[in-house]
Amino acid sequence: MTNLDARPAPAGKPAHLDSTATGETDHTPAHGLPSATYLLAGAPFQPDTDLGQSLLDKAYGKHERPQCPCTPQGVPMYIAKVGVRYIVKRMPETGLAHSPSCASYVPEHLTAFGQLLGDAVRVDPDSGQTVLRLGFRLSVGERAAPDVTGPPVAAESVRTNGKRLSLRALLDFLWHESDLVAWSPGMAGRRHWGLVAWLLRQAAGTARAKGHPLSERIFVPEPFRLDRKAELAARRLNTWQRAAARPGRAQQLLVMIGEVKTIEAARYGHKIAFKHLPDAPLFLDEDLHRKLVRRFAQELDLWAADEGGHLMAIATFVTGRGGSANAEEVALMPTTSQWLPYDDPYGKVLLESLVDQHRRFRTLPRFTLPASTTHPVAVLTDCAEPQSLHLRLEHPSQLELISNDALGWTWDVSGPIPPLPQPVR
Ligand SMILES: [Zn+2]
Repeated sequence: MTNLDARPAPAGKPAHLDSTATGETDHTPAHGLPSATYLLAGAPFQPDTDLGQSLLDKAYGKHERPQCPCTPQGVPMYIAKVGVRYIVKRMPETGLAHSPSCASYVPEHLTAFGQLLGDAVRVDPDSGQTVLRLGFRLSVGERAAPDVTGPPVAAESVRTNGKRLSLRALLDFLWHESDLVAWSPGMAGRRHWGLVAWLLRQAAGTARAKGHPLSERIFVPEPFRLDRKAELAARRLNTWQRAAARPGRAQQLLVMIGEVKTIEAARYGHKIAFKHLPDAPLFLDEDLHRKLVRRFAQELDLWAADEGGHLMAIATFVTGRGGSANAEEVALMPTTSQWLPYDDPYGKVLLESLVDQHRRFRTLPRFTLPASTTHPVAVLTDCAEPQSLHLRLEHPSQLELISNDALGWTWDVSGPIPPLPQPVR
């Protein structure tokens, strides 16, 4: 729920000085987007300036709300602390109150996110913290939360009951929270791994799970550079030590999020090699690999069919004595080359068409919605009213609608893409 357009390019802070999972360094990667302006006590400020940070520090202590000035009456925001920095975030369920041209605008009534609020996702605007309930374990001594939606399934990484986030739903949440689900023409050519990784860490930096800051459990590879190979490896090993076995306490798990380069046979079992992590694969035993291939057959096929896109993996893992990462659970998510998630080939064609036509839109993660629920691929946010975009794939009568609203714009994929709703220019 951060304002993506709000991140300036601080001079002299190159993208490779990216934050680590612990937030020890916390520089904004250079992406050249204009900085957003908010109001505190009627005075305008920009959060990423020194003045903005000092104003936010004072306001945070007094639980004051900055206002987004995108409408005449203003829209209240809240302040969250990530490491030593403050950021301004959209209040839950206020996405529609922003102007459609504001980066904080979200047509929340069209998304599945609202179903998580209060249960799987609890936002406390006073502390700026979001508490997540996870449906998978982060410690070897802990049992995974029971799945009450049906009989046990092979891969618990996907199904949960909506009151807890599955591993895949956590990835959806971080994508949603960091506004990586949103696209506007000004982002073309600016999304690269350094920015994506930084946004994911920042989103994790305001969340807690199982009593601990999520940032202590997330590992997102830093952009790889050959001349910093040893430094990066040392930092990674230090982070991974948290998931090593120690006498007298339960072994902890870390959550890895990275872009898959290959999945192939290893000396024992299989391994996932990640981009930006050439020296440290994630090992999968045969049973987990079999489940992964079966459960994520469609995602793997989408990835194989699209050489320009990215396949994201999220995995819980423990670290072995020799420093190897051994997965316990894995989920996959294909994205377009702009890092926009999709789940079928027609959805990808539609998203790429929107990018080519310079449209502003948001993709809509399923979170915990079952696959049998019809769900828009995206919502156009550059129209006078938000316009949801649906696909009609097959057997529409068997599908359950997310709401009783008419579907609106729908592409019956047996025919050509109909003309899109016109943008307000
Ligand atoms: Zn706004």
